[in-house]
Amino acid sequence: MNALEELRECPFCGKKAYYSAWEPGQVTTGWRVACSECPVITMPWRSKEAAADGWNARAYDAEIEELSSRLSEIEPLLSLAIGHIVTGEPVGDDLDRLVVRSELALGMSIKPKGA
Ligand SMILES: [Zn+2]
Repeated sequence: MNALEELRECPFCGKKAYYSAWEPGQVTTGWRVACSECPVITMPWRSKEAAADGWNARAYDAEIEELSSRLSEIEPLLSLAIGHIVTGEPVGDDLDRLVVRSELALGMSIKPKGA
C-alpha cells in the first residue's frame, strides 16, 4: 500500500483536516475528509487515497501559479518605478518597454490617462 498523501489544511478556515469513515450501514464503505474546526466535510469516496486526492485538489492552485507568473513579469517595472520615485532619475526607454511587457502580462492598460 502506498503512503497516504498528507491532507492539506481546510480551504475555508485553514485548520487541520482528518479522515472520517463513512458507515451508512455499520460497515465502512467509504471515506470522507472533514475539518477539525469548521463544519466542512466532503462527500464519501471509495478509498482514503481518493478522498485525499479530492480534498487536496484546489481549483485556485492554477490561478495562483498564473498570477505569480504575471507578478514576476511586472516586478521589474515596480522596481524601476520605485527607483525613479526615490532617486528622481529618469527612466527613459526602459520604462516604455517594461510598461508594454507589463500590459501584456496583465492583459490591461496601465498607462496614465492622457499619456
Ligand atoms: Zn475548516
